[in-house]
Amino acid sequence: MDICEFSPAYIRVIAPYQPGKPISELAREMGLDEAKIVKLASNENPLGISPRARAAIEGAIAELSRYPDGNAFELKAALSRRYRVPAEGIVVGNGSNDLLELVAGAFLTPEATSVYSRHAFAVYPLATQARGARGIVVPARNYGHDLDAMLAAIAPDTRIVFVANPNNPTGTFLTAAETERFISRVPENVVVVLDEAYNEYLPPELRADSARWLERHENLVITRTFSKAYGLAGLRVGFGLMAPRVADLLNRVRQPFNVNSVALAAALAALEDQAFVEQSYALNRSGMAQLEAGFRELGLGWIPSAGNFICFAIPESGGQPGAGAVYKKLLKQGVIVRPVAGYEMPGHLRVTVGTEAENRIFLEALRLAL
Ligand SMILES: *Cc1c(COP(=O)(O)O)cnc(C)c1O
Repeated sequence: MDICEFSPAYIRVIAPYQPGKPISELAREMGLDEAKIVKLASNENPLGISPRARAAIEGAIAELSRYPDGNAFELKAALSRRYRVPAEGIVVGNGSNDLLELVAGAFLTPEATSVYSRHAFAVYPLATQARGARGIVVPARNYGHDLDAMLAAIAPDTRIVFVANPNNPTGTFLTAAETERFISRVPENVVVVLDEAYNEYLPPELRADSARWLERHENLVITRTFSKAYGLAGLRVGFGLMAPRVADLLNRVRQPFNVNSVALAAALAALEDQAFVEQSYALNRSGMAQLEAGFRELGLGWIPSAGNFICFAIPESGGQPGAGAVYKKLLKQGVIVRPVAGYEMPGHLRVTVGTEAENRIFLEALRLAL
């Protein structure tokens, strides 16, 4: 008897998530000094964490023997003020990844389908498959979401449609007008998950006040994270904005203490440190320009990105995409980027925008790798 055969077939076929290579792992494998490794593989904030978040973390240590506030009262109150939504319509998660899982857990069954775009964030198929539901993958347009095609793909058994704006790994962006128009056309019995993990990196004139759309669409769930511009990826904290009735459903499938107390304290402090977010935004803008100039100089193409990362194209060599080889040559020089073959983009690599110095080291390593 093989115990694993008693796991449902739909679980056994799941292809595990491929994270960016950790610095410590590369150091071990190549005998490199960790301090010299440049990791631009996971869209982390090159500025580190905000000083106010750090102070809050130190302050929270004394209470670590206590369970966290499972209702995240203070953080929800602050988010409620910032986004002008009722606290009852906010669900806090162990990263926004948790929110994606909670929506899937609350709405998907083996009889259901979810809809998402080709080249969209890897967690949408994972969350779908874990419930035995079937994912409907909609062909992309210029690597971005084709909203008309996604609308047309919605079937009678569709319960969720996932939209990433900006999308990871492509960096493609949808305007407020086209996004809201899409939401208003999705049937009311289908949840629209609008994943805005990179919202803070958008130029102010492109940022939509998407929370206002909740007032008209009870089937909308907006997800946000503290992992990117707020610099708290390691602590795992994100949140969702939604109708209170939908939040009530998510709370039924949520672990009672899904977000730890240090993360709650840090997120609250980080939210209040908007100067740090502004600094992260500005560094990203100049770093993005630096990377684009570097690609231009190297004669490489790229997909214009609205996030804190960018996919660049590696020319084919001998009929094979050379991206895998370039990835390895970068690793040997202590530079970690992200292969995106798993996103059906075998000719591209994704690099996170780093500090000015990190970007320079990456571009020089890339020049040598080519
Ligand atoms: C990074 C990312 C997330 C957020 O992940 P966390 O779980 O909040 O760390 C969500 N969606 C997309 C598209 C992302 O790239």
